[in-house]
Amino acid sequence: MGAGWPRAYKSKVVEPIRLPDRGEREACLAQAGHNVFRLASGDIYVDLLTDSGTGAMSQAQWAALMEGDEAYAGSRSFALFRDTVRSITGMPYVLPTHQGRAAEHVYFSSVVSRGDVVPNNTHFDTTRANILAQGGRPADVPLPHAFDPQADLPFKGDTDVDALEEMIREVGVDRIPALFITVTNNTAAGQPVSMSNVRAVARVARAHKLPLMLDAARYAENCFFVREREEGYQGREVVDIARELFSLADGCLMSAKKDGLGNIGGFIALRDPEVYARCRERLILVEGFSTYGGLAGRDLAALAVGLREALELSYLRDRVGQVRWLGERLREAGVPVYWPPGGHAVYVDAAALLSHLPREEFPGQALVCALYLEGGVRAVEVGSAMLGEAARMELVRLAVPRRVYSREHLEWVVDALVRLRDKASSVSGVRLVEGEGPLRHFTARFAPVD
Ligand SMILES: *Cc1c(COP(=O)(O)O)cnc(C)c1O
Repeated sequence: MGAGWPRAYKSKVVEPIRLPDRGEREACLAQAGHNVFRLASGDIYVDLLTDSGTGAMSQAQWAALMEGDEAYAGSRSFALFRDTVRSITGMPYVLPTHQGRAAEHVYFSSVVSRGDVVPNNTHFDTTRANILAQGGRPADVPLPHAFDPQADLPFKGDTDVDALEEMIREVGVDRIPALFITVTNNTAAGQPVSMSNVRAVARVARAHKLPLMLDAARYAENCFFVREREEGYQGREVVDIARELFSLADGCLMSAKKDGLGNIGGFIALRDPEVYARCRERLILVEGFSTYGGLAGRDLAALAVGLREALELSYLRDRVGQVRWLGERLREAGVPVYWPPGGHAVYVDAAALLSHLPREEFPGQALVCALYLEGGVRAVEVGSAMLGEAARMELVRLAVPRRVYSREHLEWVVDALVRLRDKASSVSGVRLVEGEGPLRHFTARFAPVD
């Protein structure tokens, strides 16, 4: 298969990596309790744990760092950042935060009361946890086929609008502080949401006088998919599609560690001055003054550049093309993957690949361990180890950091998975030996079942 897209960058600074030998990998994994969150990054060859904050900044971003204005109040870098966010979202009120979950904490602690329900196509884990922490109930309304790894459909991240309306009737508008849509739908395999679905949810929001909020971590990738897959968007500028997307919403929360192309950062953007005032109070208490919000001025300066770069078509073609290439290669080689690939990651169907392992032996976690042993590759389980009883699928996520790895790195990953496919029946399961609660996957220990 040919390249399919022109690469959008070349290397200027390099970071050495090293492949530990098989014996070292075995020792490292045992030491880490068969949990790759416990591995040291120096013991990893290709790190696909997450695409969050792991991207490479551009020369323009590094140059912008030098111009960062570190003034406590009224920083020039904040003005640049705010104006960039305004020009993309059209939202006048902008509050920086140190990352996405801080934006969630500030927003939900300002608007959620005990017993409130917050619907979303699918809540991300920190979003869910922040709503729960305020005594609220996070409620998911995804499409049923979001959980079918083989349904080849363009917008599997959409909200089930009928289910949403039914939920609003059941709960009552007074108990709902806002409707949410996550673009792309990270927890549902990074699947995009169509503009027509956002418009339909916006109509529901208007009808009930409820604010519509976007969880916009990967909005640029989502807009790229809209351009590629939705009638009427071909040939449009991605930034125009983004403006249309945000015009349908009353506000957004963003982890700028994704489509902000930053190593740290986030923000809240709003249209409502009253909600803004409440959030700003909260922000000053927990993050910092409203012109830096937990970030250095140089971070804001780099993000102002990154937010624009993430909307460039050449960048998005390269980015989403790389993820798609990885997905297609794996599928061709007979490795079962969730289809189609998402914007930021390919999800391997561990239940299908390791079909000899029962759910109690955590097929996803077993595959993550086997992949590290086989190739020094770090992936992450999104299945029963992470989600417990709530897991609908046993997936292993291969998240691709932005502008970091080359074709050769991804070929290495494909080769390692193909070798595992050939000896799948010899991969043993794991059992949980330590760890409990909804965030157990970060710190748990496992042991091989023999
Ligand atoms: C990463 C992410 C968050 C949380 O952001 P952090 O920067 O990791 O705190 C929230 N929502 C979605 C969809 C995300 O992917």
